[in-house]
Amino acid sequence: AGTVAVRETRSVCPYCGTGCGVLIQHDGQRMLGVRGDPDHPANFGRLCTKGRTLHQTVHGADRAVQPLWRDRDSGSPLPWSEALHRAAEGFAGIIRAHGPQAVAFYVSGQLTTEDYYVANKLAKGFIGTNHIDTNSRLCMASAVAGYKSSLGMDSVPCAYEDIDLADCIFLIGSNTAYAHPIVFRRIEDAKAGNPNLRIIVADPRRTPTTSIADLYLPLKPGTDVALLHGILHILIWEGWIDRAFIDTHTEGWEALKALVQDYNPQTVAETCAIAVADLRRAAEIFGTARAALSLWCQGLNQSAHGTDKNTALINLHLATGQIGKPGAGPFSLTGQPNAMGGREVGGMPALLPGHRDVLNPAHREEIARFWGVEGICPEPGLTAVPLFQAMERGEIKAVWIVCTNPVLSMPDQAQVIRALARAELVILQDAYLETETGAYADLLLPAASWGEREALVTNSERRISHLGQAIPAPGAALPDWEIFRDFAYALGAALDESGQPAPAIMDGSWTARAQRLFAFSTAESVFNEYRETTRGRDLDITGLSFARLDRDGPQQWPFPEGAEKGRARLYGDGIFPTPSGRARFRAPAYAPVAEDIDARYPLRLITGRLRDQWHSMSRTGKVTALFQHSEEPLLEIHPRDAQRLGLKDGQLCRVSSRRGKVVVRAQVLATAPPGVLFLPMHFGTRFAPAGECNRLTLPAIDPVSGEPEFKHTAVRVEPL
Ligand code: SF4
Repeated sequence: AGTVAVRETRSVCPYCGTGCGVLIQHDGQRMLGVRGDPDHPANFGRLCTKGRTLHQTVHGADRAVQPLWRDRDSGSPLPWSEALHRAAEGFAGIIRAHGPQAVAFYVSGQLTTEDYYVANKLAKGFIGTNHIDTNSRLCMASAVAGYKSSLGMDSVPCAYEDIDLADCIFLIGSNTAYAHPIVFRRIEDAKAGNPNLRIIVADPRRTPTTSIADLYLPLKPGTDVALLHGILHILIWEGWIDRAFIDTHTEGWEALKALVQDYNPQTVAETCAIAVADLRRAAEIFGTARAALSLWCQGLNQSAHGTDKNTALINLHLATGQIGKPGAGPFSLTGQPNAMGGREVGGMPALLPGHRDVLNPAHREEIARFWGVEGICPEPGLTAVPLFQAMERGEIKAVWIVCTNPVLSMPDQAQVIRALARAELVILQDAYLETETGAYADLLLPAASWGEREALVTNSERRISHLGQAIPAPGAALPDWEIFRDFAYALGAALDESGQPAPAIMDGSWTARAQRLFAFSTAESVFNEYRETTRGRDLDITGLSFARLDRDGPQQWPFPEGAEKGRARLYGDGIFPTPSGRARFRAPAYAPVAEDIDARYPLRLITGRLRDQWHSMSRTGKVTALFQHSEEPLLEIHPRDAQRLGLKDGQLCRVSSRRGKVVVRAQVLATAPPGVLFLPMHFGTRFAPAGECNRLTLPAIDPVSGEPEFKHTAVRVEPL
């Protein structure tokens, strides 16, 4: 046998928002291995357990390789032309009968920047509906809302190098050791290299992340706003604030100062169930730090008060001037590989490309002119939870789901299933066939996956990487943006056939319009168009190109034309992108969780991630080694709660909420907080017949961000 020539192609890990560089080893047809990219600034060659096994997740019998028309349990293969014709006829018929607001898209933070851009142009520019949301709604929406509310733009002001430069790191609502392992390694290194670094961790659960804490605050679930206001109260009392920064660069201080007067240490300590001395110590560490950096994730975001939690944390940075300088700032850790890129191109129902807003008439006008369309619908579309509720009511009649598994990942699973059952047309575009959502799809479309197409993504620190194509996609699978482009052509023809009246500014027909709007031949041609929408905006990347990224490596935005490099951190000049140029203190009052415990449901349930699994396990579920850490969904429970219930370690139990029940095995853990349970989010019926945690969770959402409250559900437990 001849020797196989192994080549390496640069890419980025498709799991978490750390965005680690990966070199894919392959023979041009199959992936043979991976190694960390030593030159990528996110990881310098390191990979976590998930990243190291990526090549084992790509090839498999469950890959979607051709379009399938689903008829209950069987599927008939179709050529692309016929599949897109059926999809287009379905959409055109519904648009003709009920208008463009009767169709919707539900996409994913796994999509590339090009995919997101074309999907948005299709929905908002061609069809005329803003009903396009993403599973980032379940992840980063509260951070987006918090940044926009406090700082004026959805722009993460920090960089990973700030971890090395801080002397206070405040981790709140983040099990970084599991969710962003390579970021955690960097925190460990910073700790080892700097004896002056103090780390505060606030989390109801004692996790592997809390082991690094100099100060651990085991706060009661949902009390983050009270905690943060309590810290600010002490900062003011002790004079650990930066009065010059407040006076020069912020607004709204007096209202916030008046509000936090009521958050005295004793009251806050009782509300949060922590010691007064620990609260004071947290304020002292933060308030006396030379450079204070906050890192957070879903513990703040996945909440019916997620926006308030984000703004309350940003308040601490504004009050102390801990922003815009090395080692300092509020740094949200993005959940998915391209949640940030999706936000940049307007991948949410209230956004437009280049950090523009649907509600802003000037922004709508700019994008309508850029696209050459008569206008953009002035109403923001529905966010994920209301979108599926509208589907259940029959208002959304067709939905196109892309690279996500809402039957497993959305709250209140029974409602999502009812909604999909009611929809007239469900299209599912994915790289994998056998997801829980697939059972409700009429049409399955095969998408190319990681390493099978060229793309750009943006990680948590605003760094854009160019991902190469290592191997061809299997069968008839195509990059998502190409599917949207080809669908636009098919929809144009179907709309013309249906007699749908043409908008005012037209190209003669819907068909001609589709050809003009979607004249994309490569991922690069999509990027080049999107790039122009950023000109003059805060995320200006007019100085970037595929060639530049290949030559100089991944770059942070902004990177305007003529720049030599991107900017590591934002707001160093103290000027914020608000009308006044000042950052805004927000003053939300602490409010309790949406569904408190009571006599029938006396325990609090938190859901979240495991170290070695990712989302609904389409990839990680293929790798035997990744089950060694945890084989099944275990219910973490404190020994006292278990004893009271007569529940033994390893025993099966039923967990019930007002919406449903699951059957899982108990894991009695001394480190679990009394009265608080934990279930992992990953396991669907393929891996655990009755362990889907979202049978239990509630559809309460944050009124601003629309993000659901995954971090608190009232439940009861019965031994079986
Ligand atoms: Fe992938 Fe995140 Fe692990 Fe890096 S830390 S290898 S991006 S899962």
